[in-house]
Amino acid sequence: PSLEYEQLRRKIQTQTRELSYFALDQMNKIAEKVPDPFRGNWQKVIDRFADQYRVLLAAIRNLTDVDGYQSWREQEHESLSNLMQARLNALQNPSKRCSDVKRLSCNINKGCGYGCEIHHAMHCFHVAYALGRPLILFSDGWRYNPRGGFDEIFHPLSKNCTHADVVGAEAWARYKSADVVEIPLIDNIHPKEDFMPMTVPADLSQRLTRLHGNPFVWFTGQLMKYLLRPQPWLTEFLAKKLESIKFETPIVGIHVRRTDKVGSEAAFHDISEYMKFVEDYYTTYQYQNPELTFKKRVYIATDEPKVFSEARSKYPAYIFYGDTAVAQSAQLNSRYGTESLKGVLLDIHFLSLSDYLVCTFSSQICRVAYEVMQQRVIDGAWRVQPLDDVYYFGGQNAHNQRAVISNTADWPNEFSFQRGDIIGTEGNHWDGFSKGTDKTSGQSGLYPSYKVEEIVATAEMYTYPEIKV
Ligand code: GDP
Repeated sequence: PSLEYEQLRRKIQTQTRELSYFALDQMNKIAEKVPDPFRGNWQKVIDRFADQYRVLLAAIRNLTDVDGYQSWREQEHESLSNLMQARLNALQNPSKRCSDVKRLSCNINKGCGYGCEIHHAMHCFHVAYALGRPLILFSDGWRYNPRGGFDEIFHPLSKNCTHADVVGAEAWARYKSADVVEIPLIDNIHPKEDFMPMTVPADLSQRLTRLHGNPFVWFTGQLMKYLLRPQPWLTEFLAKKLESIKFETPIVGIHVRRTDKVGSEAAFHDISEYMKFVEDYYTTYQYQNPELTFKKRVYIATDEPKVFSEARSKYPAYIFYGDTAVAQSAQLNSRYGTESLKGVLLDIHFLSLSDYLVCTFSSQICRVAYEVMQQRVIDGAWRVQPLDDVYYFGGQNAHNQRAVISNTADWPNEFSFQRGDIIGTEGNHWDGFSKGTDKTSGQSGLYPSYKVEEIVATAEMYTYPEIKV
């Protein structure tokens, strides 16, 4: 398929979803003001609109099965993944002695949650990929496995670069010339270099843009695939659980992040907010597969044990998977250590094996699950409904969009802009509007999400000429 075809196909889905966010939000607001005798009728209008929207969405989702390009997509996904893994393997296992190549070190112990620490290691790995310098990871006393560290859970990142190769590491400011450089937290790097997240390598950007609706997520998913190669015990542990809980598809994964996160870094979201989108997914799925009978399954990952009983009592038509003991181990007082680690690894694994995710992207757990999911699904950027933030990488460079249709401000807090303006986005409100700043005019506020497109940020990175695939 041409790049233009793939982009157009995705645009039709994105625009359809944006249309429904806007129309349903407005219709529901009007419903509150409709006088009693007409309210029932108005609700019928809303329900009919929502149903027609799902039929349209189902048709769009079915397109990839019949346009004749799906086997190309599968092959391209596999071939790019093989290329990425071969590059990373070469990066991490230099043919020269490790002490003879320029290298980087990074300490996983950021002192935060699992998702947060993995993303910190991912920022280091992204830099290593970009510079073509192998990464040596330190994890002594890692709070999720204090005795054995990272290498007991995942394969060590290198066969021939070890901790002994990190002596006299220099500060980040000398990254261009020093032999060994320690990578600081992303938040402490000023200025950020343009090869840092969320950029993709320029030499792969065309292929990535054709393959995937969110090239950075796919790229970072591939870095993660190498970084988190499970040790045999972990592979076995996950496989056994999969079998014992009888994990089957279709399944939607929801991540309900509560406890310490609520009020500090995220808002409370009621279970009904998640289930509304789960129901939406399944109705659409039924329209995609009119002859199919299936059970509606939901995998719940949460740090709040009460969520399971609430979900089961309020939604009897669903089969809920998930483990109260795991949720207990996720609570703040028992959060660290090996038991809790097993729980979070299980939850991320099952979320990533789901067909669709409903979650808050303010949580690093759901972002990790979404990134891992992209290792498996083909062009799966659409397989999520976030309840708060759009996808992001903590500490990232600006997230820019381009205005494709000019706008004259006509709604509360909206700003006007011209086609071609660059807009730094701060979030989608999932009601037809996004929030951001026009970098051309300097204005900020709300803007209609349907008038912009994503800009794929690219940067020159090391090109791995030694790898021919
Ligand atoms: P964030 O705080 O949600 O952005 O994610 P982090 O991973 O950085 O920190 C939260 C930590 O809480 C996780 O690493 C887990 O230890 C625990 N946690 C939060 N939600 C879940 C969940 O759904 N399942 C499990 N098993 N643990 C969770």
